[in-house]
Amino acid sequence: MGKFRSDHAKARQKQLEYLHTSTKHSSKPRKIAAWVPGAIWNCWRVSKIVAKVDANVRRFGVFEDTLGNPEKRNPEMACSLFLSSRCMQTGRESLKAAALAFLLVCLAACAHGAKTDEFPIKVDQVGYPLSGPKLALVSTPTADFEVRRTSDNTAVFKGKLTQAKTDENTGDRVRAADFSALQIAGRYYVEIPGVGRSWNFDIGSDVFDSAYSLAMLGFYGQRCGTAVDLGPEFPGYSHPACHQHGEFDPTSGTSGVRDNIGGWHDAGDYGRYMVNSGIATGTLLWTWEIYGEKIKKISLHIPESGNGTPDILNEARWNIEWMLKMQDTDGGAWHKQSSRNFPGFIAPEDDKLPSEVIGTGSAPYKSSCATADLAVVGAIAARDYQPYDAKFAAQAQDAARRAWAWTEKYPNVTFQNPPGINTGVYGAASCSSEMLWAAAELWRTTGEAQFNQYFLDHYADFLPSLDSPPGESWSSLGSMGLWTYALSGRKGPNIIANAKAIAAIKERTVAGARGVVERTRANPYHVSLKASDYVWGSNGIAAEYGMYLLMANLFQPDASFVDGARDNLHYLLGRNSFSLSWVTKVGEHPYQHPHHRPSASGKQPGAWPGLLSGGPNKNREDWVLAALPKNLPPAKVYVDTQNSYAGNEICINWQASLVFLLAGEM
Ligand SMILES: [Zn+2]
Repeated sequence: MGKFRSDHAKARQKQLEYLHTSTKHSSKPRKIAAWVPGAIWNCWRVSKIVAKVDANVRRFGVFEDTLGNPEKRNPEMACSLFLSSRCMQTGRESLKAAALAFLLVCLAACAHGAKTDEFPIKVDQVGYPLSGPKLALVSTPTADFEVRRTSDNTAVFKGKLTQAKTDENTGDRVRAADFSALQIAGRYYVEIPGVGRSWNFDIGSDVFDSAYSLAMLGFYGQRCGTAVDLGPEFPGYSHPACHQHGEFDPTSGTSGVRDNIGGWHDAGDYGRYMVNSGIATGTLLWTWEIYGEKIKKISLHIPESGNGTPDILNEARWNIEWMLKMQDTDGGAWHKQSSRNFPGFIAPEDDKLPSEVIGTGSAPYKSSCATADLAVVGAIAARDYQPYDAKFAAQAQDAARRAWAWTEKYPNVTFQNPPGINTGVYGAASCSSEMLWAAAELWRTTGEAQFNQYFLDHYADFLPSLDSPPGESWSSLGSMGLWTYALSGRKGPNIIANAKAIAAIKERTVAGARGVVERTRANPYHVSLKASDYVWGSNGIAAEYGMYLLMANLFQPDASFVDGARDNLHYLLGRNSFSLSWVTKVGEHPYQHPHHRPSASGKQPGAWPGLLSGGPNKNREDWVLAALPKNLPPAKVYVDTQNSYAGNEICINWQASLVFLLAGEM
């Protein structure tokens, strides 16, 4: 999202750097160790060079380590050099140049004989529903494949691979193994004689249930201000209450201590941001509204489980309560709550920086985008919590109304970090799409004419966003406003205008979806992403394509929309060039090193479960990605390392899109 650049500039100054190549699953690494005498390399306080060379080395990068002990936390690392930050700041340029030249020789040796495709058979490592298309994608020049039962290795299906097609986004030659006809529940793998076998996967009627639960548990793990414990299934994944001390920053226009409980840590950092909370929480509430029948049976085993309220609403409420606290007495909402600078890579309970409510720095101190996002979430919450807690629903609706009134008075108060504040910005030049969404949700909840009229006066400006799916992001919410209006079922006094708006929204969404389906089918990896989509958070964009197709399916049911959405889910869960599940602890080969402070603090067993990685990013906005070979195709610009904040960070907005997609495909 581009909001962490200042964080990492700081980290670079402070912390270790190293150069590495990484490899995984190297069967018999050959180890070369060279110790550089300290007398010669006096500048470099730690100067150990280790190279483990094997045929699977396939990527390398230059980046800083933010932890202090990279070898311990990157056990797959193959070739590395550790340099102290003090050295980097004080060392003579000639010595630095000599060291870097030496490293390049080392890297060339490591890269020699590299294979580009370690896992040529790519499957959804979670699985495939009983009916519907089932494809594995294969980047190997062979002809035949088998599907075998995991329990006894019996071949239950044999078939021919399709003709190879070149995928321009990865450079891979890709063939498809179609085993759609296999409709017997069980655990399987794909085997190709002479090539090997895929990761295991399930075929069944409820294959996505556990992934959905884990993705929701991902939100629970982000809770701020409270102790968190993921329970016996994930021993050791817990932390004491964090961020107990809150204050009003002078930029908020007020001062003093503040209650600091509630909300989710936004991403790999510990900030809480109203704007990103808006789309994340709104998407979770929609998940409940649209797929509630499917997910109400699922217990997430969170502290509130069993209280009579569905767990997805229990989890969303944790964040809504915090959003409500961000509303000032005049109705406006402050933009964010975070420390003034990002903390280091430490556990949440060890971050003792005051958590500050931060405003714009001048009157009216609150921002229009944050306030409109509060109106959105408050309006949806008023509907969703009514059956379970009418008092809370009324409180949410009142907050939404007051927020709306504030945005009418101050529609254009945008946000930028005031001087001295260096955490995430989530700033946008305009808050008009937030206001459209807020008006539509308030109309859907209250049926009051003023909200309908605002929508009718403004919606046409946003219709083009439906023509270039997926369209929505934390800063572009027009499609969300359009869709909720079409789903509202409400009729206003101007029935003709209402009907015209709804018809246009449905028609353009369905037309957009047809284009996405066509492109997805033609893509050798069966993913909707275009080359231009491989930007910061590309995995979130894949999930949003899925969401777009599922919305179209609500307006005009069509199996190709559901299948196309599922193709994007398959991509995220392992059917991609890396054969990597981009959700931690999901599948047999998930990514391991999210840019996520709790995971990397050294106080936890490893990657916290259920978290979606940002994914490949052709814009290379961090050191790791910038150091990759220049000719890499866009979908290949990715390294599984915590240092890659522009490619491997987790974030609540794309996490919510994943939840929606999983629920839709359950
Ligand atoms: Zn916290």
